[in-house]
Amino acid sequence: MAMNKTEAAAREAPEKADDPGREGASALKERGIRLTRQRQILLDLLDQSGKHLDAESLYKLARGKDPKLNRVTVYRTLKLLKQGGLVDELDLLHYDGDQHYYETRAKQEHAHIICLRCGKVEEYFGESLQKLRKQVEEHFGFQIVLTRTEVGGYCPHCQVLRARELALAAQEAEASPAVPRTARAGRKE
Ligand SMILES: [Zn+2]
Ligand SMILES: [Zn+2]
Repeated sequence: MAMNKTEAAAREAPEKADDPGREGASALKERGIRLTRQRQILLDLLDQSGKHLDAESLYKLARGKDPKLNRVTVYRTLKLLKQGGLVDELDLLHYDGDQHYYETRAKQEHAHIICLRCGKVEEYFGESLQKLRKQVEEHFGFQIVLTRTEVGGYCPHCQVLRARELALAAQEAEASPAVPRTARAGRKE
């Protein structure tokens, strides 16, 4: 009896053993995105532009490099790059509607400082960002996968323009209080 059991176990064993190469291969397949030509074109464009491009601008630039690229391919490729962790998708506080923007993840962690008037985007690379990350990890025992820091406000240039605009609006309100719209249509030339 015992002999039979052992024999059965011995026969089963080779079938149960995992193929050691299998897990590594599938993990690689999952993580490593194969860089096809269009993927490389998009990554290069994002790297070179230094800006945060929306999908449509990226598509137009990519067409310049390869006229055969179509919109669907570009959008799909972007999605794959995002899923593969090679590209970050940003909304930049939606300062320009529902637009999303893309940048490569090769860059060091940074915050986006967005002017809500002119849409200029600055990048802030400060040690405090890494500090914040560390503190959150320690405090919550959290394993951080991604972070986004976005700051909205007015750039120095727009602060000046806004102050002027506000002053002008106040002056106009004082000069013509409660005048109906139709009457104000032909105001100072
Ligand atoms: Zn501005
Ligand atoms: Zn950025």
